[in-house]
Amino acid sequence: MNSFIDLRSDTVTKPSAGMLEAMFQAQVGDDVYSEDPTVNELQAYGASLFGMEAGLFCPSGTMTNQIAIKMHTQPLSEVVCDRTSHIYVYEVGGIAFNSAASVQLIDGVRGKISPAQVEASINPDNIHFAVTSLVSLENTCNKGGGAYYTLSEIAAISEVCRRNKIALHLDGARVFNALVASGDDAREYGRYFDTISVCLSKGLGAPVGSLLLGPKPLIEQAKRVRKVLGGGWRQAGFLAAAGLYALQNNIQRLQLDHDRATQIGNALRAATYVTEVMPVDTNIVIFTLAPEVNMNGFLDYLTAKGIQASSFGPQKIRFVTHLDLSDEMIAAILTAIADFKA
Ligand SMILES: *Cc1c(COP(=O)(O)O)cnc(C)c1O
Repeated sequence: MNSFIDLRSDTVTKPSAGMLEAMFQAQVGDDVYSEDPTVNELQAYGASLFGMEAGLFCPSGTMTNQIAIKMHTQPLSEVVCDRTSHIYVYEVGGIAFNSAASVQLIDGVRGKISPAQVEASINPDNIHFAVTSLVSLENTCNKGGGAYYTLSEIAAISEVCRRNKIALHLDGARVFNALVASGDDAREYGRYFDTISVCLSKGLGAPVGSLLLGPKPLIEQAKRVRKVLGGGWRQAGFLAAAGLYALQNNIQRLQLDHDRATQIGNALRAATYVTEVMPVDTNIVIFTLAPEVNMNGFLDYLTAKGIQASSFGPQKIRFVTHLDLSDEMIAAILTAIADFKA
């Protein structure tokens, strides 16, 4: 048991009893030979959920994103994404390191970019410029406080990409949060994206793993790229079983995480020592402390109450709700927020 109420991320969850049981029962084989039946099942199941042909199970969302970028770019080409994107900010400069591609950053709204911005970011066909070859969206947007794209917004961006023969990738680390909040149908995503990365280890509660989804020939080549990155793994079915369990049991309950995040957001809005709370659309709450509040002092206060959180920039703090929180923990968080004296 975790003695802390951990709001740092939705990656901190541990496998539930049901998930552990599924892992113990898993049939496994050597996945480098494509012989792990549970990995194969997870890949096929994940692809079918999103109306895609094939899937590749990888150790992390960074790997699935970076493989996708590699598949859609060449040196001298360019990736278009929001300035706050995980692929740009939090993947160690991997676009340059792995793909030798450049990046065109867009200043979106809470991480979301518009079709007009995408259109304007496409380089002319002229030897001075890198070739725009990929647009990447993030849904939900982590640094945007969990803002999400709806399917119609995605369709409009996809139309710009298709018309300009540019691939469209989704960093769907929290795509199920977006789907639960919007009510959109996951299968429709396959019509608009060329590749999709889905994290199983965020709100879905699996211990490890992400899926890269796409057309069969692309996924076959992606398996080579995974190998060269050192991601060819063997009896990964024990982990795939956790991923399957997560996809089959932990999607609908994300609504509870959203409701709890909303509750926390409302409590913060009522606190005099908080100047701004980003709109709470899913399971992420980002807020700004008043200038006179010492941020580390506030974080220490939370720690003393048994609550862990992360700073997210000057005076900014991020709380993330997830499936290892209980009603009692939420009550303790609300009390701690109400009781703090700046
Ligand atoms: C967590 C996350 C990823 C992948 O992270 P890993 O830790 O490499 O699995 C990718 N994109 C976003 C938006 C994320 O939040």
